[in-house]
Amino acid sequence: MYHSTDDSNTRRMDAVRDRARVCMRCGLWESRTNAVVGSGSLDTRIVLVGEAPGRTEDERGLPFVGRAGKVLDELLGKAGLSRDDLFIMNLVKCRPPNNRRPKRAEIGSCEPYLVEQLEIIKPRVIAPMGNSPLGFFLRRYELGRAVIGDVHGEEFLVDESWGRVTLFPLYHPAAAIYNRGLTEALEDDMKRLAGLMGS
Ligand code: URA
Repeated sequence: MYHSTDDSNTRRMDAVRDRARVCMRCGLWESRTNAVVGSGSLDTRIVLVGEAPGRTEDERGLPFVGRAGKVLDELLGKAGLSRDDLFIMNLVKCRPPNNRRPKRAEIGSCEPYLVEQLEIIKPRVIAPMGNSPLGFFLRRYELGRAVIGDVHGEEFLVDESWGRVTLFPLYHPAAAIYNRGLTEALEDDMKRLAGLMGS
């Protein structure tokens, strides 16, 4: 699911996972099969943040393993990246019924997990994918309001407790399923994100 050369980071992430598995902070626990904390490298510079698990993710306990995940894998591949180079997670760890958008209160209930995960990984780049995670990070860094169509591919420099971080919003990969016109923008942005890997 995830890996690190630093055992203490793996243990800290295991603790987050174990708490999320039995979490009852909001009502989403009632319909979950698996809490989905994320996958990839804990030693990475780049974290991708989606919205919430869908049906396949809930069943398998892994992020982006359904249709949107297939699109994401293709985008990563074209940009010369693989899942192992990054950490992929969601704003909300449990699947909202019928794949509705997570409510603000649910996002708030799940926020401590997300923040703890970021504190473990200490990424240099955070890429929110789509409007829900974008809104969360704009609020967190007091950057005002914006929608993904206006700010995708822009770099916002923000301060975190572990140092300077680039916020790099991306369209959600599922957006490219419903609107093929966005594929090119997503591909371009993903390639620029890959360029930030070594920066
Ligand atoms: N959409 C998301 O936002 N996250 C997933 O894990 C899958 C689909």
